Amino acid sequence: MLKREPYIDLVLGPQAYHKINDKILNYQNKKKKLEVTEFDAISKFEYFSKIKNQTKKISAFLTIQEGCDKFCHFCVVPFTRGPEYSRPVNQILEEAKNLVDCGSKEIILLGQNVNAYNFEKKRLANLILELEKFSGLERIRYTTSHPNDMTDDLIDVYKNSKKLMPLVHLPVQSGSNKILKLMNRKHTISSYLEIFNKLKKINSAIEFSSDFIIGYPGEDEKDFKHTLKLIEEVKFINSFSFIFSPRPGTVASDLPEIDKKKTLERLEVVQQKLFNNQINKNKSLENTTINVLVENRMDDKTKLFGRSEYMTSVLFSGSDDLIGKIVKVRIQKSNQNSLFGEIINQSNKKVA
Ligand code: SF4
Repeated sequence: MLKREPYIDLVLGPQAYHKINDKILNYQNKKKKLEVTEFDAISKFEYFSKIKNQTKKISAFLTIQEGCDKFCHFCVVPFTRGPEYSRPVNQILEEAKNLVDCGSKEIILLGQNVNAYNFEKKRLANLILELEKFSGLERIRYTTSHPNDMTDDLIDVYKNSKKLMPLVHLPVQSGSNKILKLMNRKHTISSYLEIFNKLKKINSAIEFSSDFIIGYPGEDEKDFKHTLKLIEEVKFINSFSFIFSPRPGTVASDLPEIDKKKTLERLEVVQQKLFNNQINKNKSLENTTINVLVENRMDDKTKLFGRSEYMTSVLFSGSDDLIGKIVKVRIQKSNQNSLFGEIINQSNKKVA
């Protein structure tokens, strides 16, 4: 980039952004172009562990893992973020305690391969069970997972945890084994469905969301139909879907692309199906009462904003002292992305 674009003075990689102030000052003094793109995750997290995360957000992100060793053929993460790195357990628990002390009620554990977390044999399941003990913490989520790291110890946590939310974001990318192989995903549709069935057996209320790449090189009509079939079977309630877009340096970027028009047509069909699932799920919640974690007041000040256990936005009237609490909301209306309702007090009466 420095060679190609003369106006760039400094290239700072994602494992070095904590050095940004120093590097800019250094550039101002010495006027020497610089690139800092090494994968030094340890030094970054050591730096961050000295700073208190004071986000004060009701729902806070906490990075536990970075990088990826899986090398899916379409993805740049292993090249831009480096190998899998897991932060020490004590650093994570300290940061989590600080977040809870500052008022966070929900922690979303983050990692490019979050369920590959492994620090001295402590896995994601162990971390969740440790967080479960934090009395001020109400909800735990994690993202993003790989099906191959959805191990039985993690699946078992769904049996015992009261705080782990029943929405599993588990990217599948395609419903075709042929395409999964071409993508180097290292899992199959049957191994994916095995996880789905195990979790549904533990708790039938668990729902799934996913990521899909449509029009991956080599995808034919039959492969696409497999994707549609999988969507019908799993009934993902919320998903991200994109057309294949080649990333420089990846294996897939050298493969011949399929017809763009065809790909866009397929994307439209997939999205229609996914959106319908989302609409149907939200509609099924009308005239029911759900638990909502109240996060803040909407910018226009009229309504409170919270999230259901499935991460869906919920809007309703109420006072600011409810922010940070879990309240019961009777859902009256819904659309694709949001639920609208009114708060119910403990004795099941509407709050005026
Ligand atoms: S898609 Fe996910 S698992 Fe695959 S290489 Fe990228 S980060 Fe790793």
